[in-house]
Amino acid sequence: MGNVTIIGGGASGLTAAITAASAGAGVTLLEQNDRVGKKILSTGNGRCNYTNLHQEPSCYHSENPAFPWGIIRQFDAGETISFFKDLGIFPKSREGYLYPNSDQASSVLDVLRMECRRLHVEIRTDCRCTKIRPDKSGFRLKTTSGEIRAHRVILAAGSPASAAAGSGDAGYTLARQLGHRIVPVVPALVQLRCREDFYKSISGVRVTGEVMILADQVCIARDRGEIQLTNYGISGIPVFQVSGTAAQALYRRQSVKAVLDFMPDMERESFQDFLKERIKIRPEKTVEEFLVGLFPKKLWNLWIRLGGLPRSQAVWTLKDGQIETLARLIRQFETNVTSANPLAQAQVCRGGVDTRDVDPETLESRLIPGLYFAGEVLDVDGLCGGYNLQWAWSSGHVAGKEAAHVKA
Ligand SMILES: Cc1cc2nc3c(=O)[nH]c(=O)nc-3n(C[C@H](O)[C@H](O)[C@H](O)COP(=O)(O)OP(=O)(O)OC[C@H]3O[C@@H](n4cnc5c(N)ncnc54)[C@H](O)[C@@H]3O)c2cc1C
Repeated sequence: MGNVTIIGGGASGLTAAITAASAGAGVTLLEQNDRVGKKILSTGNGRCNYTNLHQEPSCYHSENPAFPWGIIRQFDAGETISFFKDLGIFPKSREGYLYPNSDQASSVLDVLRMECRRLHVEIRTDCRCTKIRPDKSGFRLKTTSGEIRAHRVILAAGSPASAAAGSGDAGYTLARQLGHRIVPVVPALVQLRCREDFYKSISGVRVTGEVMILADQVCIARDRGEIQLTNYGISGIPVFQVSGTAAQALYRRQSVKAVLDFMPDMERESFQDFLKERIKIRPEKTVEEFLVGLFPKKLWNLWIRLGGLPRSQAVWTLKDGQIETLARLIRQFETNVTSANPLAQAQVCRGGVDTRDVDPETLESRLIPGLYFAGEVLDVDGLCGGYNLQWAWSSGHVAGKEAAHVKA
């Protein structure tokens, strides 16, 4: 069966190690940090949202759209839950988002480490791989602790997303050295920065709404939920969900706008009628009094200013055109996106090792037999909500199983 050497001791590398070792392979895991699994500890605000009960192909993104699901199917959320239950993680569901019952990300890392120890996985920390050289009997790996020989190698080196827990871009360099193409890497699950100078006045507002991203005036992504307004732009889960697509459009030098709808559950066509009905109820209220109870004060103050509306005039005096302006500000609030926040603030990367160079069933390189890939180093990213870890567990499992079963 021979030995399998894994480069990277994150979520995908640890899963690959456990799967390969369970199948009987001798496993060595190389980790450049002084300990494995640093990024796992930051997940889910320290609670680790390790998967999600709702799964479908559209939860995952890649330039090669069918690729992620072919792997997720092989080790799905159900199998992930069982895998972790066996290791000791009792699941707690929050509307389908799964966490360990302990609410501690450290428990997830602890059980993975315990299992590696039980299966005699050799973990070498402070060991950075700088070159992978294929040869007749497998591979020679150049590392900061000397040369290591391996029959098969799994590259699970992660991505440079997140400053605190970032794994660097060594994975891309190692893959590129062996001829693999890299899909341009941009931040995803990240805040978006906007051009307008009014953001300081609405900073801190949290409001339910829909965000739609336009690239050169064409809608390329949309999502709903709690939008957060910051002193430089927009944030919150729905913004995170569309951020990778926006960042890619910016990378292509397209003009990117976000259109915010602050009342997405109401028919847009009848919205002006809704405002007119509301005016009829208390026509004597001033324009600013009229919006109290509908939206946060900072927001309607901004709309009054941007719409040039007469703040202290009775609301019944508003003309149709002014009501239309107000309706447009509430339902189609346009803002120019100048950039995504940098990789250091992103939860994941979009882009990575081009999956066209990787077998979609086994995760083996199409260029270098015996070399496998797992986790975020590949051009696959998921929605916010447990999907990126699910990708790490699924791809780690497949790569570990396949690498272990090849005859040395
Ligand atoms: C703040 C934050 C919160 C998140 N929350 C969630 C969440 O709740 N749910 C979710 O699903 N996802 C979440 N994610 C995303 C998720 O954590 C990652 O997608 C996942 O951990 C990636 O796993 P990985 O194994 O591919 O990479 P990593 O976990 O980054 O592991 C790669 C490892 O390889 C090592 N390495 C790199 N290069 C070398 C080298 N040359 N030699 C040796 N070792 C090397 C690195 O040090 C690292 O330990 C979050 C991410 C962040 C940053």
